[in-house]
Amino acid sequence: MALHLIIPGGASADVAIIGGSGLYDPNIIENQREVKINTPYGEPSGYITIGDIKGIKVAFIPRHGKGHRLPPHVINYRANVWAIKSIGAKYVISVSAVGSLNEEIRPGDFVIPNQFIDMTKRRNYTFFDGPVTVHISMADPFCEYLNDRLYDASSSLGFRSHKGGTYLCIEGPRFSTRAESRVWKEVFKADIIGMTLVPEINLACEAGLCYSTLAMVTDYDVWAEKPVTAAEVEKTMTQNIERAKKILYNTIPKVSEKIDENLCSCCKALENAIQ
Ligand SMILES: [Zn+2]
Repeated sequence: MALHLIIPGGASADVAIIGGSGLYDPNIIENQREVKINTPYGEPSGYITIGDIKGIKVAFIPRHGKGHRLPPHVINYRANVWAIKSIGAKYVISVSAVGSLNEEIRPGDFVIPNQFIDMTKRRNYTFFDGPVTVHISMADPFCEYLNDRLYDASSSLGFRSHKGGTYLCIEGPRFSTRAESRVWKEVFKADIIGMTLVPEINLACEAGLCYSTLAMVTDYDVWAEKPVTAAEVEKTMTQNIERAKKILYNTIPKVSEKIDENLCSCCKALENAIQ
């Protein structure tokens, strides 16, 4: 599949950040400029901010667009991932707000998941809708190397952090019923719940990108019977966003530009399929 794109001003980046709920302002990036990228799948969620963090070339894309205008089920995930691939990024760090399905994972904590369960229903899951058919392995969907860097940065900053865990992705935009929430927790043994990981991660894998998620826990999901107010969630979110920026700021310079091929086993089968 050839890439036919005109990238404004030869924009390029080594690391891409996909900002989730609350993280719209990439103010940790220096020397910013915005670029508009069109893809064969339409427009990404918004302009992409290009710049650098401590000398590393970084791109930032707001997953929900400016002003959170795109709910999870209508985000053009294919355009977002294609745009990231087109500017040459190798590593993707996605930031997401999630609910907790695990007593040990408290509001305010960070989780760097290593597995996911997909309960979404009607999204575009692949770049390959035929005639080329591709079945990618998702046994270990997250980049171990990036996961380690994120965890090291988060824990060394003194933030409560969990290495590994299962992210359950629902379709949304509604939240789970109590019955569903109990199934996710007790039957599926998932740890956190959100609405945006899939198909972003599948597509990143098809594009041969190293992908990790920094999940910020806003509250316990409804299984916990611990109702929280919007103000409490907002307060946790505000604190988490500032902490997430610090984690990104410390992680990105440690992501080597020349990763040792043996350090991670992220999708390599398609390296020649999307260029
Ligand atoms: Zn990797």
